[in-house]
Amino acid sequence: MEGDVGELTGLYDEARALLPELAALRHELHKVPELALDLPKTQALVLEALSGLGLEVTVGAELSSVVAVLRGARPGPAVLLRGDMDALPVTEETGEPFTSEHPGLMHACGHDMHVAGLVGAARLLAARREEIAGAVVFMFQPGEEGDGGAEIMIREGVLDAAGERVVGAYGVHVSSGLLPGGVVGGRPGTLMAAPDSVTVTVRGAGGHGSAPHRALDPVPVAAEIVLALQAMVTRRFDVFDPIVVTVGSIHAGTANNIIPATATLEITVRTFSEATWLAAPERLREVCEHVAAAHGLTADVDYQRGYPVTRNDPAELERTARLTRELLGDDAWFEMPQPLAGGEDFSYVLQEVPGAFAFVSALTPGADPATAPYNHSPYARFDDSALATSASLLAALALDRLAEG
Ligand SMILES: [Zn+2]
Repeated sequence: MEGDVGELTGLYDEARALLPELAALRHELHKVPELALDLPKTQALVLEALSGLGLEVTVGAELSSVVAVLRGARPGPAVLLRGDMDALPVTEETGEPFTSEHPGLMHACGHDMHVAGLVGAARLLAARREEIAGAVVFMFQPGEEGDGGAEIMIREGVLDAAGERVVGAYGVHVSSGLLPGGVVGGRPGTLMAAPDSVTVTVRGAGGHGSAPHRALDPVPVAAEIVLALQAMVTRRFDVFDPIVVTVGSIHAGTANNIIPATATLEITVRTFSEATWLAAPERLREVCEHVAAAHGLTADVDYQRGYPVTRNDPAELERTARLTRELLGDDAWFEMPQPLAGGEDFSYVLQEVPGAFAFVSALTPGADPATAPYNHSPYARFDDSALATSASLLAALALDRLAEG
């Protein structure tokens, strides 16, 4: 695609020129973090930031999403750019001058950066309307942190918001650690895990702590299940197609001389392939039920599916890598050797449309990526300069895909 490179030249510099206003927006968002699907203050700030750009703006019915459509000067296909908007139930400890004003809530995953970065992309693209053949759909999404906001927005029609199905979809996630400063990282195929949730209730019979033979004690059975699950991980699954099983919570009993009737385990399961994703519920159920049965007890296994595996289309990931190098230099692209075990509901969009998701380093100057507090930490800090990277990369992805027709 000769010529495209010329069109993209200067995009990063233009994004850097927007940095003061994008950082100001990000700081306003950071002060008023909101949870889950209902984000009225965030939504109001997005609507204000988009006003005057000549976009077709609609808001969600079941959630406080914002969908904005930019029409280019000429007809062509439509593409989608996404930013998630929700915060976390974390008490901020960063000491930033724009620290959260909502007690117990914090933009600890950097979704305030995603909103401001996507607004930046909208500004860059609106200024290039005359060069654009086609449309760009901007997807401002609540409820990424477990509420499946992307799935609801798909149900409400975001993929067809321009009047036809989008042909490409792109998103980025900032990272406060892990990645070296100044880079954008990603990989083809599996990028992130499918996180499932399981509640196991071991059912026995309560009794006096002095006479366990007259009861059915669920406590040693629960302990045995915890260890048997780790044996399952290494003995029943392929080491080259891994699974993570973490029992994060165990609850049973009230006092040392009472055998409780039940014990409850809360488990997260992370898988990276369809084969392991499909096999996990039955294997886990077998272990829990049969360990319990071996001791005359039963186990109820409530297995809840979470988000699907986040999978990058190889050609779209290659586009992302190429544009990153064009915008930021050859050293800026970081090909990740492995997926991350976190989950991401942009996976629902990538199941429907070829696209790519990448990580943008927001490491603060002078910080060590190995030790800098990572996303979800109350100490996680995100450097504003990553806004220029996100905005220019998202805009470049839209322009490059639309130029293909
Ligand atoms: Zn996040």
